[in-house]
Amino acid sequence: MRPAAPAALVALLALTPPPTLITNARVIDGNGAPARPAAVRIEGGRIAAIGDLAPRPGEMVVDAHGLVLAPGFIDTHSHADDELFDHPDAVAATSQGITTIVGGQDGGSFHPLADFFARLGKEPAAVNVASYAGHGTIRALVMGDDFRRAAGRREVRRMQRRLVDDMRAGALGLSTGLEYDPGIYSARPEVLALAKVAAAHGGRYISHVRSEDRYFWDAIDEIIAIGREAHLPVQVSHMKLAMRSWWGQADRLLGQLDRARAEGIDITADVYPYLYWHSTLTVLFPKRDFNDLTEARLVVNEIVPAEGLLLTQYDPEPAWAGKTLAAIAALRGEEPAVTLMELLRRAEAQRQATGDAGESIIGTSMTEADLERLLAWPHTNICTDGALDGSHPRGYGTYPRILGRYVRDRGVLTLEEAVHRMTGLAAAHMGFGDRGLVRAGLAADLVLFDPATILDRATTTEPHALAVGIERVWVGGQVVFAGGQATAARPGRVLRRPAP
Ligand SMILES: [Zn+2]
Ligand SMILES: [Zn+2]
Repeated sequence: MRPAAPAALVALLALTPPPTLITNARVIDGNGAPARPAAVRIEGGRIAAIGDLAPRPGEMVVDAHGLVLAPGFIDTHSHADDELFDHPDAVAATSQGITTIVGGQDGGSFHPLADFFARLGKEPAAVNVASYAGHGTIRALVMGDDFRRAAGRREVRRMQRRLVDDMRAGALGLSTGLEYDPGIYSARPEVLALAKVAAAHGGRYISHVRSEDRYFWDAIDEIIAIGREAHLPVQVSHMKLAMRSWWGQADRLLGQLDRARAEGIDITADVYPYLYWHSTLTVLFPKRDFNDLTEARLVVNEIVPAEGLLLTQYDPEPAWAGKTLAAIAALRGEEPAVTLMELLRRAEAQRQATGDAGESIIGTSMTEADLERLLAWPHTNICTDGALDGSHPRGYGTYPRILGRYVRDRGVLTLEEAVHRMTGLAAAHMGFGDRGLVRAGLAADLVLFDPATILDRATTTEPHALAVGIERVWVGGQVVFAGGQATAARPGRVLRRPAP
């Protein structure tokens, strides 16, 4: 027999959330303004008032005990959309204070987006969901298996028509993953032609740029050119310096971006706070020639050292998953670059046989000094690039890691500035006008956290460890995470691109 639920819990589970007054909070409004003591009233899913407020009869009162109350975090590059129907509590996100996820990233999205949004309407999640339309998804539908070439004019027009459908369904804009198949085979005019469609609908462009290592500077030139020629805001996804030769060149990169901004191009970036990425072996070989020893040596010497390349999934030889390239090379008595080619050969054979290479890796490629410079750039907002059930700890740890390690411990950003990068600035970069600030009339997406204790716990060996210090999270005025666990509430909404 289960004990009777307390009245407050019953109210939480009810469809209409009760009016709530959060008292004794240190409010950080998301605009960068200093924290101030205040109470916040929530009514009908929106923030009704902020200030010195007394409880009204029937109002649920939550005593914040002096903790920080901030807008819920907006994750501008999320892969949570992939598994939302399997994990509607989205605890990976809510447990770190995220209230809105932006999916459809790296060129991959649900298509048609209208169907995804309709299903989310019927099976809502704990978090709000917005999405870009993925170039790679649309390109694959138009070109099929014959995608290792530039698209013809008629193919580009067919891609444009599919993009128009997704823009009408409420996509925020166009996303590309130009380091991945099939996006890597696109010529710039194709991307430009699609970016112009997004622009015509008041949309944006967000990109995993064409190279994060060898051809990085050209890739940054390309996204700037797209912003210039298609006349729309552009955002560099998970910006990083991921090649030894580029370490220490954050100022060169930021100078390039600042010059573009001075020219009138609205270019911004999102960043996650880890020195290692999560991707595929394939992406390390832009020419997709896996038998090139010179390339393999360049990968090991310049991009990801053998001891920093961790196989997180390797279906061709499952026993190797969880091992580093260095360890596998030692087992085989080989030079790591030779082992790397062998890993790719087997993965490619599996891909040809089954359609799925069944591999993913975590690669340690960045330095903390560069990360901190990129975080400090005023036009950088925070993202996870994480998944709900992923093997990179960013899926569970990103926001607490920023607030613990990079704010409290290392002083890279002030607390108010960091919150701004997670909320108001992220909302501005995504074009959301109705959330991202603690302001009367905006959506009651809120997070209550303890800035003295907040910290990530997730690691590569325990990527799903919950962070500490997130006390309570509201989405649309309903509590979705409290007491260290998800509630049963599913108040998340589809956030369609607002009319321009
Ligand atoms: Zn990416
Ligand atoms: Zn991504």
